[in-house]
Amino acid sequence: MGAAAGETFPEIREAVGRLCAQFPGEYWRALDRDRIYPKEFVTALTEAGFLSVLIPEAYGGSGLGLGAATAVLEEIHRSGCNGGACHAQMYTMGALLKHGSEAQKQAYLPKVASGELRLQAFGVTEPTAGTDTTRISTFARREGDKYIVNGQKLWISRAEHSDLMILLCRTTAREDAAKPSAGMSVLLVDMREAVGRGLTIKPVRTMLNHATTELFFDDMEVPVANLIGEEGKGFGYILDGMNAERILIAAECIGDAKFFIDRASAYARDREVFGRPIGQNQGVQFPIARAHVQMTAASLMVDKAATMFDAGEPCGTEANMAKLVASEASWFAADTCLQTHGGFGFAEEYDIERKFRETRLYQVAPISTNLILSHVGTHVLGMPKSF
Ligand SMILES: Cc1cc2nc3c(=O)[nH]c(=O)nc-3n(C[C@H](O)[C@H](O)[C@H](O)COP(=O)(O)OP(=O)(O)OC[C@H]3O[C@@H](n4cnc5c(N)ncnc54)[C@H](O)[C@@H]3O)c2cc1C
Repeated sequence: MGAAAGETFPEIREAVGRLCAQFPGEYWRALDRDRIYPKEFVTALTEAGFLSVLIPEAYGGSGLGLGAATAVLEEIHRSGCNGGACHAQMYTMGALLKHGSEAQKQAYLPKVASGELRLQAFGVTEPTAGTDTTRISTFARREGDKYIVNGQKLWISRAEHSDLMILLCRTTAREDAAKPSAGMSVLLVDMREAVGRGLTIKPVRTMLNHATTELFFDDMEVPVANLIGEEGKGFGYILDGMNAERILIAAECIGDAKFFIDRASAYARDREVFGRPIGQNQGVQFPIARAHVQMTAASLMVDKAATMFDAGEPCGTEANMAKLVASEASWFAADTCLQTHGGFGFAEEYDIERKFRETRLYQVAPISTNLILSHVGTHVLGMPKSF
């Protein structure tokens, strides 16, 4: 699969498309069946330098912007592959890059860029707090030159396949903090040292092959030297990284939508029932055309959000809106593609049911649709808050 006319970063798209062609549907189906992590795919992307596009050249990356990163992830998903196994290696380092000390950046970023260190885990969500992040209760208590961490996280993806984790925890209890979003801090956890010494990782099996886990912290020690930025200001650092995450996930949705639209239109042209191609019936043709229109409009929103992010402009609203419209476009395309294939849409060998399950995630994670609508309703349109 190569770049189509008018698409951004055609050389990157061509190169990613060539790499992805080495990982066809059979590869993903076999892993999906047993919920196995796509190690070979992630290694190939790392070695080709695609996961370090956002790391500045001074630290061993390509120094490109989010626009280039969206092209990489969109192309991965358009090819039928899945970037969920590694997309965090791209953006999780943003907290370190923007808020870490020079010593931390020198120590970690070149190794993250080369793939020697995997920074794939991003620990925010907790079982009781849910989306209300200010209610997290994982607590890091300072003792001399160490933090002692206790608590629990849920849905922390790729923790078993990562060396490092960006962890958001409280260093001041919510009730003692100046405001609910204050008193949280970001720690860089070296999981190679922590597992078995205060950190337990428990895999959570889900409807898609996503390597997500539950984490338990029981007096886990983290050196104070691994605090990123200032103590108590971690929530702001995390929000910054979340904008990048939402834009990149939106690009994955655009890639998924393109995959479904390509597959659906090809099948509708070829499959003959009642003596003519099913795509000749407008009841079959129009939903596919509508999916294309929705994907194209959502893609413009993703480009806009990425451009604003790269220009250093505040883009929280645009990142959220891009994620919302792109995840809805990919889901509509998925449903339409499955319907177009009739019974064959359910057969594993067509890869449609797998991609259908995979793309459904994005209306819930990394932020659910309702929370985006709430942001737009209150912050953009000035209506009263519900919480
Ligand atoms: C496969 C997977 C991988 C994930 N990976 C990570 C990860 O690597 N790191 C990480 O930190 N997190 C991760 N997450 C967590 C993910 O970000 C959350 O699941 C998501 O943000 C939704 O939060 P929640 O599940 O706590 O839902 P809740 O907050 O419990 O909400 C449940 C539902 O209620 C709705 N809702 C809640 N409050 C309101 C309100 N006030 N108004 C209207 N509707 C409301 C929500 O929209 C949602 O639909 C992952 C989740 C999944 C499923």
